[in-house]
Amino acid sequence: MAVKWGLSILDWRAHAVDEHAWHPTGVYKAACSHTLLMVTPLLTDPAGKPCDACAALQFRQALGGDPP
Ligand SMILES: [Zn+2]
Repeated sequence: MAVKWGLSILDWRAHAVDEHAWHPTGVYKAACSHTLLMVTPLLTDPAGKPCDACAALQFRQALGGDPP
């Protein structure tokens, strides 16, 4: 899964975003259900400190677990 990271201007944490998943108009839904504005640049690596929930989810998926 092509997960990218977007830095939220709301909490200044990097959230994991699946670019190819469904997103509401104008925003990205992060893995932790945090909402990011669609103008947020999505990066391959987290810019800044990753959100704890997103980091935990990515870690679990990296180990081969199923997404919740
Ligand atoms: Zn998050």
